[in-house]
Amino acid sequence: MANTQAQDRRGLPSVDAVMRSAAARAAAERFGRSAAVDAVRQELAELRRNGLAVAEDDAAALALARLEAADAARLRRVYNLTGTVLHTNLGRAVVAETAIAAAAEAMRHAVALEYDLRAGRRGDRDDVLRDLLRELTGAADATVVNNNAAAVLLVLNTLAKGREAIVSRGELIEIGGAFRMPEIMSRAGARLVEVGTTNRTHLKDYVDALGPKTGAVLKVHPSNYRIEGFTAQVAAASLAPLTRRHGVQLIDDLGSGTLIDLAGFGLPHEPTVAQAVAAADLVTFSGDKLLGGPQAGFIVGRADLVARINKNPLKSALRIDKARLAALEATLKLYRDPDRLASRLPTLRLLTRRPDDIAAMASRLRPAMQERLGDGFTVDVVKCESEIGSGALPRQTIPSAGLAIRPIAARGAGRLLAGLAASLRRLPVPVIGRIANDGLILDLRCLDEEGAFLENLASLRAPAAYSVSRST
Ligand SMILES: *Cc1c(COP(=O)(O)O)cnc(C)c1O
Repeated sequence: MANTQAQDRRGLPSVDAVMRSAAARAAAERFGRSAAVDAVRQELAELRRNGLAVAEDDAAALALARLEAADAARLRRVYNLTGTVLHTNLGRAVVAETAIAAAAEAMRHAVALEYDLRAGRRGDRDDVLRDLLRELTGAADATVVNNNAAAVLLVLNTLAKGREAIVSRGELIEIGGAFRMPEIMSRAGARLVEVGTTNRTHLKDYVDALGPKTGAVLKVHPSNYRIEGFTAQVAAASLAPLTRRHGVQLIDDLGSGTLIDLAGFGLPHEPTVAQAVAAADLVTFSGDKLLGGPQAGFIVGRADLVARINKNPLKSALRIDKARLAALEATLKLYRDPDRLASRLPTLRLLTRRPDDIAAMASRLRPAMQERLGDGFTVDVVKCESEIGSGALPRQTIPSAGLAIRPIAARGAGRLLAGLAASLRRLPVPVIGRIANDGLILDLRCLDEEGAFLENLASLRAPAAYSVSRST
């Protein structure tokens, strides 16, 4: 450690001396002088506590690293190699380029958000999407709120506050811990009336429950689970004549919801929003699940009911901003051209990728991964199964491919795998895989940029296997 003029008795330079160094001046330029001085002071205090002595430049470099770490974004971009395409914890849908451009443009400028350009007076935020949603769903009217949970809350609060809402026991779902149908219902002020049993509910159960206090009948897509075996549920189309006769509203919460028949893209069939609209009075669905847009919740259906929803004071508390509205408009427009949808909408493009193409990419990446990890691990190209995620078609997986990484040492393998997963998470762009079958699986379905991915691997360090072999 170099000696300097302004050192304390433990050999540490003064704050002033450090601030005169080139590195500290650069730090002050980037982060402001007071932040730089604070960081230098903290760094020197820590060095003093640890009994360490360093030169001015080294102290400044440490302070700069401290400032950079504090300045790093908390919302980090990651590689989603979990195999779950719409992963709620990783932000669900990756949106289309046209949607990104539209959102950026809306954020950059003033926009006619609630302004009627033709008449030159106040307009309605819902006008932005109303025609598109009518066209794509066949509904008479439509509105949009923060997310689908908000859509369900708002619909129930508008139609069933202080009244009863009838739901099948087989549809009282919880999604991701935060969304529990009975709780949403009580927050909406509706009294839950459960009918049927967990596995079987019949039309007669609904008939028996309908009465003067009924506000609505709610159908809920079971989303993230399946009841198999001896089961029965009543389809919305079979409930519609009954609810109509009783003059109560039929609500269908589709959860994911899709605007097109996925079977046409080689994916499992899921009823479309248009089919649901044909039966129910109001239909709710998400913007960032299968639809492939930003987070949002749609409410589509009868015009008189949508008008009542728009008058609910909760509506403005749950509304979305101009950036998301712009992104949604651009996303929905892509559905006007189904032939090119799979190439333009990332969610559909990723879901329809051919397993052979994914396997070919895995073969190209395998040697580089093996080289980075050294001889403590095997790296193999494997077949695996992707999931759509976000509750869409939970039991149906799509064939995919990826890399399976396994430690060679049997002893301490679990710790090595966890260490490897942690090393991948520490990369400049963290890589998130999943641990299965004694290996770390990187499902490459959602990987687009091979070159950038390889560069990102440059700093990967395999967890040390020698400590394991030494302990054996
Ligand atoms: C996902 C889901 C919701 C919640 O939707 P968000 O957009 O996440 O708020 C509600 N109902 C069902 C059936 C769902 O699958």
